[in-house]
Amino acid sequence: MKKLVVGNWKMYGNSAMAKALAASVARKSGDFPEAGVVLCPPHVLLAQVGQWLAGAKAALGAQDCHSETEGAFTGDVSASMLKEAGCSYVIVGHSERRSAYCETDEMVRKKAKKAIKSGLCPIICVGETLEERVQGKAEEVVGRQVRGSIPDAAKATGDQKSNFVLAYEPVWAIGSGKIPTMDDIAQMHTYIVSVASKCVGCAPEVVAVLYGGSVKAANARDIMSVRGVAGVLVGGASLKEDEFCSIIAAVK
Ligand code: PEP
Repeated sequence: MKKLVVGNWKMYGNSAMAKALAASVARKSGDFPEAGVVLCPPHVLLAQVGQWLAGAKAALGAQDCHSETEGAFTGDVSASMLKEAGCSYVIVGHSERRSAYCETDEMVRKKAKKAIKSGLCPIICVGETLEERVQGKAEEVVGRQVRGSIPDAAKATGDQKSNFVLAYEPVWAIGSGKIPTMDDIAQMHTYIVSVASKCVGCAPEVVAVLYGGSVKAANARDIMSVRGVAGVLVGGASLKEDEFCSIIAAVK
């Protein structure tokens, strides 16, 4: 399986920055066919970034979608709109949305389902808070999120890759500069793969689990070498051209 390197720009960026970054990423992704690269800019930049990535080995993703096809949902966008804008992926259940917008596992599951039905691959985020880790509840919390957020539409058969991706993002590692030990990452990824493969009824090796939380050029190679890590979801470092390109190069 190719390692996936996903850049989540969050609510950062403008046209000029996006153009420079997309051009660099388009070049770099060509040099590293071992990496599947995905850029997730803010919605208003999707069409432009899609054009700048045209013909490159990098895909376009969005940061969220609504669970309905259409309707009176001011400010939201649907999965089919994202598909039409050129997206192949959409992040759902990011911890910033779970906390700031009170998104529950049920809401995340509905979004992931709609994404799959619309032809997108959802990147379903899960992760424990520091308090939950300190209390020894990390696996319990993450297991519950995985079981509650994977929709019925999720599938993977035989040795084919699945139609969804999971991302383990410990909340305390996001934007903090702190990361779990490599052993902790390995243990959690093995656990997530086992829970998800049981949920979906598929072979463990076709379940892709990304790691996210303070990934940078200096730690990307170590993290991606950990057993069970199918790639990385990168926030802050995905906004820095050199840093993100070095993370892509770390797949080797
Ligand atoms: C994220 O927001 O998905 C993330 C991983 O952020 P950062 O890399 O900045 O910790």
